[in-house]
Amino acid sequence: MSSSNMYDVKGNLHRVLSSLPDGVRLVAISKYHPNEYIEAAYAEGQRVFGESHEQELRQKHESLPKDIVWHFIGHLQTNKVKYIAPYIDMVEAVDSLRLLSEIDKQAARCGRVIDVLLELHIAEESTKYGLTLDDCRQLLAGGEWREMAHVRICGLMMMASLTDDQEQLRREFTTAADFFDEVKAQYFADAPWFCERSWGMSDDYLTAVECRSTMVRIGTSIFGPRVY
Ligand SMILES: *Cc1c(COP(=O)(O)O)cnc(C)c1O
Repeated sequence: MSSSNMYDVKGNLHRVLSSLPDGVRLVAISKYHPNEYIEAAYAEGQRVFGESHEQELRQKHESLPKDIVWHFIGHLQTNKVKYIAPYIDMVEAVDSLRLLSEIDKQAARCGRVIDVLLELHIAEESTKYGLTLDDCRQLLAGGEWREMAHVRICGLMMMASLTDDQEQLRREFTTAADFFDEVKAQYFADAPWFCERSWGMSDDYLTAVECRSTMVRIGTSIFGPRVY
């Protein structure tokens, strides 16, 4: 790809970064975008990138700088965990005890501790993955996670409904933020690493950061439309 037709990654990245308040980190979502785009953001100092497909992530991890911090943001099948366990920095969308347990097992094999977020399902769309608030309460109340020495639960992640309705977005993000407080007080009061609230994407991140997001996952606004 010639640089003349490369999307303005540099300009977009700085525009997004300058719109984020202190304390909110950017995960640049690079799925379906070529290495050149990631390298352009990397050259500007961006180190945290998110991908949602194991094979694509594997190729990018092998060919790109080793100090990139990779987040797996998509739905992760348990049979794929072993492939990413050696190097993944954070699995953002853990939505079952089974997946959590598999990540623990594979991380143990690699002698690692993998950071994870629990994915909440709050949006109206029925197709989205994630734990309902009650599922999440049950998972935590069950206590099995306490025995898992190779995963570290660092917070919560969610996707809001695909809507322009600001009130609805605000309601969903606030539900997630309030739930974070509940869980933090009940299970993670003594765990300073439980501090992440991953919400906000290209179309809704400004609202998300008003609703206490600590981590936004932004693809299109930086890299342009994805070509599937
Ligand atoms: C693709 C994706 C994003 C980024 O979406 P954009 O609208 O391109 O910013 C964020 N989070 C998840 C879970 C995604 O799959």
